Amino acid sequence: MRLLLHICCAPCSVACVETLRGEGIEPTGFWYNPNIHPVTEYKMRKNTLIQYASDIHMRLLVENYYGLREFIDNVYPNYNGRCGFCYRFRLEETARQAAEKGYDAFSTTLLISPYQNHELLKEVGAEMADKYHISFAYRDFRPHFKEGQEKAAQLGLYRQKYCGCVFSEEDRFLQGKKNLITFQKFNNRPERGTV
Ligand code: SF4
Repeated sequence: MRLLLHICCAPCSVACVETLRGEGIEPTGFWYNPNIHPVTEYKMRKNTLIQYASDIHMRLLVENYYGLREFIDNVYPNYNGRCGFCYRFRLEETARQAAEKGYDAFSTTLLISPYQNHELLKEVGAEMADKYHISFAYRDFRPHFKEGQEKAAQLGLYRQKYCGCVFSEEDRFLQGKKNLITFQKFNNRPERGTV
């Protein structure tokens, strides 16, 4: 089976690629993650994957698009519902390119993360498979998440601390601190939080 595997980051790809190779499938990796912000983080994750793909001799297609503005335009004002758009954005491009380039199927390393909405990913994958007339190679990679992350750590791969978008970065680093800092006492300025 010729499979185009969307890869969200190198650490998540470790166990997915090993599992697929164990099934006799040699995936082609596909980098397309306009949801990762800011630029320095985007580059760090992309370059880590490029190096890792080379190390494990995996073919990798890189769609180098930093899509901050398009992402924000599409999730505004429903920030809490942003993940649905984010999955569609990435899986649609994966399915489209897979069909255009003659692959038999597409899949995504997002399916390994216990932190993602797995059922929604499954639905979006099926929707894109219908739309582009190509198979969605669904796998529940989640049982391999821990071992994959451990192996990524042993390999010294860069491991991010938040999902990807600026909102997930805020959730990770600001949650629980929102009420800690206010400036109300200075010059009657309105209350506001700060990082
Ligand atoms: S939290 Fe993660 S999956 Fe959800 S929109 Fe942000 S980057 Fe995408």
